[in-house]
Amino acid sequence: MPIDATHPYDDDNIFARILRGEIPAKRVYEDAFAVAFHDIAPQAPVHLLVIPTGAYVSWDDFSARASEAEIAGYIRAIGHVAREHGLVEPGYRLLANIGAHGGQEVPHLHVHLFGGRPLGIMLSQ
Ligand code: AMP
Repeated sequence: MPIDATHPYDDDNIFARILRGEIPAKRVYEDAFAVAFHDIAPQAPVHLLVIPTGAYVSWDDFSARASEAEIAGYIRAIGHVAREHGLVEPGYRLLANIGAHGGQEVPHLHVHLFGGRPLGIMLSQ
């Protein structure tokens, strides 16, 4: 069920619990600003999620409230993960779902990294 991205942050959302180590995730990268892990239901040969370590619901919330260091750290982490997984040369896709029309289901900001095959059209028709 897509979320309303204007809601306040829910400390018990599944990615908050992953950040706290309460539930497992196949982590591939972490630093002070970001954690990356495999999506539990991959939709491409490479399907990773990169989340900020801070409590932000959506891209909108993050861009409005995060510090310059948090924003730089998160963006750099996404690039780092893409390079580390060999996605740059063949190409890949970044996707951030925001709110109801975006189909966002987990109310903690995340970017999907898809790769490993040609990904086809950008949106279903
Ligand atoms: P979104 O629609 O952008 O909110 O996507 C949420 C994504 O989180 C989906 O691709 C799910 O497969 C993924 N997901 C949900 N729970 C977990 C989990 N425990 N570990 C890893 N990925 C998850």
